Amino acid sequence: MSLPDVRDRLQGVAVGAALGDAFGMPLEFRPPRPADSMVRNLTPGRLDAGSFTDDTEMALALAESLLVKSPLDGDDLAERFVDWYRRGPSDIGIQTAGVLGAVSRGEGWQQAVSEAQRANPESAGNGSVMRCWPVALKWWNDPLHLMVDSAFQSMVTHPHPDCVAGSCFINVWIEALINGRSKRDSFEFALKTIEMEEGLRSVIAAAPIRKRREMKNSGWVRHTLETVAWAVLTTDSYAEAVIQAANLGNDADTGAAVTGAVAGAAYGISGIPPDWRAGLHGEWPLGSGKILRADDFIKLALKLAVD
Ligand SMILES: [Mg+2]
Repeated sequence: MSLPDVRDRLQGVAVGAALGDAFGMPLEFRPPRPADSMVRNLTPGRLDAGSFTDDTEMALALAESLLVKSPLDGDDLAERFVDWYRRGPSDIGIQTAGVLGAVSRGEGWQQAVSEAQRANPESAGNGSVMRCWPVALKWWNDPLHLMVDSAFQSMVTHPHPDCVAGSCFINVWIEALINGRSKRDSFEFALKTIEMEEGLRSVIAAAPIRKRREMKNSGWVRHTLETVAWAVLTTDSYAEAVIQAANLGNDADTGAAVTGAVAGAAYGISGIPPDWRAGLHGEWPLGSGKILRADDFIKLALKLAVD
């Protein structure tokens, strides 16, 4: 594996995730599109075409935390999430809002997250899997830290075992792709490596042989992981993987964001359509007036990977 290949894949993860999010944005909360009239380009929704959403915003907060504190520091990460929360994002998950609201009112994050989980022990949303990819870029050549920080970033808002295992699974899959394993081999490696509840493992393992009509793509982490495995392993390009995930509707932006991160690792930034790349944008930090574009995600990816 030559260095240019690795760089191509590293950049593909960051741009691929943000673009998947932006592609899915107009399809969020919609029913699945009919197979013969799928959306195949960036389109406007509640935001203009090419805009990323909370999935990417939280990933950016995580990335910035990793750039100043690595291995991750829970207090620093929680502080950055709360700063984002206070700026009034246009979208935020229920569990995330509950935890960050309590921290914003002065509670410690450990107490806030354990109270939220105790109040709703079955809660296992996709809020930590959707933002986990920066950890894979930071630790793409350090498997131990990769595992520890993938789990830790989940614990700050989503401590359910499926959310923790799901974050580790996605990042080990991405890391194996960056290091040159094939799509199928890296998938099987991640599935074998990560400890998880057998029900979750069988959902992921069976996803590649499922039919489109069987996909639910809800906000439940098991459905998101199923979407990602199905979309990445039943297609042959970055664009087709993201198109398939996003057109499932429902939690379209998150399904497509995580699909985009994995597909970006598989095909590299050179495999992402240039006109899509040109359309990607979003304000960061919220309220700052500063607009991030694909080039900023490229720089971020390389900074994370070498720091
Ligand atoms: Mg979103």
